[in-house]
Amino acid sequence: MDQRYNDLNSYLRAIYGCRVQKITIDAGLNCPNRDGSISYGGCIYCNPRGSGTGAYARGMSVTEQLMAGKAKLSKRYKAKKFIAYFQSFSNTYAPLDKLKSLYEEALAVDGVVGLSIGTRPDCVTPEVLSLLQGYADHYLVWIEYGLQTASNKTLAAINRGHDVQCFVDTVQTTQGRGIRICAHVILGLPDETRADMLRTAQLIAKLRIDGVKLHLLYIVKGTRLEALYRQGSYICLKQPEYVDLVCDFLERIPPQMVIQRLTGDPHPHELVAPRWALEKAQTLTQIRETLSSRDSWQGKFFNTVE
Ligand code: SF4
Repeated sequence: MDQRYNDLNSYLRAIYGCRVQKITIDAGLNCPNRDGSISYGGCIYCNPRGSGTGAYARGMSVTEQLMAGKAKLSKRYKAKKFIAYFQSFSNTYAPLDKLKSLYEEALAVDGVVGLSIGTRPDCVTPEVLSLLQGYADHYLVWIEYGLQTASNKTLAAINRGHDVQCFVDTVQTTQGRGIRICAHVILGLPDETRADMLRTAQLIAKLRIDGVKLHLLYIVKGTRLEALYRQGSYICLKQPEYVDLVCDFLERIPPQMVIQRLTGDPHPHELVAPRWALEKAQTLTQIRETLSSRDSWQGKFFNTVE
């Protein structure tokens, strides 16, 4: 068995018959958990750059970012079609007309076949969902909601500024509109046990989410998590622990859920720990090998979870 999980590339190739790549967009938007609407500090692990490319700060428009991404990715992967991925901060957190203009600028670029909008579950309105629903008739439209964990205790500890019910309600409001939903989940959050993390898998399985991105919690310079780490209050996962947790997680979610990511991409100059987080290819290989040695696959224990 070669394919032990339903990866994004295979999913996109099955729809379009060619290599499709996501191009990251930094649209210069903000986040209510950083601008004072909810808090100023943000989530304790939040990179002040918003996981962004800094392209907006360098004055690049959405079109310019997409053109640059297309040039690079068509050369590297022979990609022929592209998804505009609005990644930095909360990409539904702006007036509707501004969002419409940003999204439609992206969709007007030749070769762009869809949108992927990263945001918080407390940051979408019915009007934004109706806007995206309108695009979904002609384009592939994903919305990516940060859940991170199904534990309210942990959400409070990491200063997320929303609870689990907010995520559940937003998912249910989004479903039935032709918009695909991806949940972001972090493994290794402070004081979380394996059972906590597998409860998160159970929640997204039960909600019939369309896709998931799994992230390792790593420590970025200048964050509150860095302070916790330096005072010994937070210990990072080790690579074998993370690999085992990812496999446990995959086994408990539906086989058709699209796996959009299995670990993150820390910037080497911003990363404090763990250093193994930079070994992405090795981590992915170990995940595949572990699934193979367990004779396991995505969804093996779906419906039979403890
Ligand atoms: S929701 Fe995202 S951008 Fe906002 S504070 Fe948390 S990590 Fe940062």
